[in-house]
Amino acid sequence: MPTTETALASAEAHSAHNYHPLPVVVASADGAWMTDVEGRRYLDMLAGYSALNFGHGNRRLIDAAKAQLDRVTLTSRAFHHDRFADFCARLAELCGMEMVLPMNTGAEAVETAVKTARKWGYRVKGVPDGMAKIIVAADNFHGRTTTIVSFSTDHEARADFGPYTPGFEIVPYGDLTALGAAMTENTVAVLMEPIQGEAGVLVPPPGYLAGVREMTRERNVLFVADEIQSGLGRTGRTFACEHEGVVPDMYVLGKALGGGVVPVSAVVSSAAVLGVFHAGEHGSTFGGNPLACAVALEVMAMLRTGEFQQRAAELGDHLHRELALMAEGGAVEAVRGRGLWAGVDIAPALGTGREISEKLMARGVLVKDTHGSTIRIAPPLMISKEDLDWGLEQLRDVLRG
Ligand SMILES: *Cc1c(COP(=O)(O)O)cnc(C)c1O
Repeated sequence: MPTTETALASAEAHSAHNYHPLPVVVASADGAWMTDVEGRRYLDMLAGYSALNFGHGNRRLIDAAKAQLDRVTLTSRAFHHDRFADFCARLAELCGMEMVLPMNTGAEAVETAVKTARKWGYRVKGVPDGMAKIIVAADNFHGRTTTIVSFSTDHEARADFGPYTPGFEIVPYGDLTALGAAMTENTVAVLMEPIQGEAGVLVPPPGYLAGVREMTRERNVLFVADEIQSGLGRTGRTFACEHEGVVPDMYVLGKALGGGVVPVSAVVSSAAVLGVFHAGEHGSTFGGNPLACAVALEVMAMLRTGEFQQRAAELGDHLHRELALMAEGGAVEAVRGRGLWAGVDIAPALGTGREISEKLMARGVLVKDTHGSTIRIAPPLMISKEDLDWGLEQLRDVLRG
């Protein structure tokens, strides 16, 4: 096994520097805890940006994966396999929708949503060819493909990657008037995160999502909710949209859908919308593969009982109460979020988000900065209250200096 030092030096030399990870080298993990190559233990308060909602090495998920590994792992979509129909039916049911188009990563699912909305616009809504517009929000994060970064407002994510894909309109997040003004006859979709994760866990003003729903319905525009990070239990509900009683036309899912085992993503919608696709018009070699379906079916079985959602709601209330107390002390300037998900703005005098993350790491807690002085807290939903409290105690101590 490499030491921390040799692993970091080798990664520095041989891995492109497109990330700036904390200097910890994980060797194993179990539940909410990770162990590094030196045998040090860390509480995981990031959970792979919600990809690990059910914790590391979740027994049910690992068993489902192992059983499937021994049967069949890949068929490509050239053939049916015996987990596929069930995966689609169960996911449609979980979403209260009719059809599923499986992909692998989140970005691919967002690309799929963009293509679906455009095709629906031309074939169903009757938008003139090549004129379809999709409205997105400023400070969004939807992934890293050339088309997706075309509608990012983040300089680092965008610069040097042009020419950019046209057909997107950016409006301020949370501003219904601006959204209304941006809509035209050629608008086919509004694509948004119900809570903006990368932007610092920004929760839109009350009534915003309901307003987007109403406005899109009135104008015959698809409301596409990117719930890749917010969905599947994180906020205390299956979908973050539920907090406003909103049902979008399309969910874009990823991260936790693969149970932290394999990448699984999907677009889920009505037959009227996803029915626009015919053979050959879109696809993915690995999308909906047997291993992915087996793991995702187990993820869905765990979500159906509602226990993870309830846990996220209860522990989330506790988390937000504790963070509010820290805010009273002045070390924390603002806290946002829902459920087991929080964006915490640290008083800049106490350090950058990166510095706070490094200090927490030294105390055995792993979180990550989003930008500036903001850190994101998103532990696995199965974390114990004792572990969560211990993690928060470390944060309190770090902020005390
Ligand atoms: C992570 C994320 C994506 C991209 O998912 P990848 O699997 O990294 O491609 C898209 N949208 C949101 C909201 C995300 O959090």
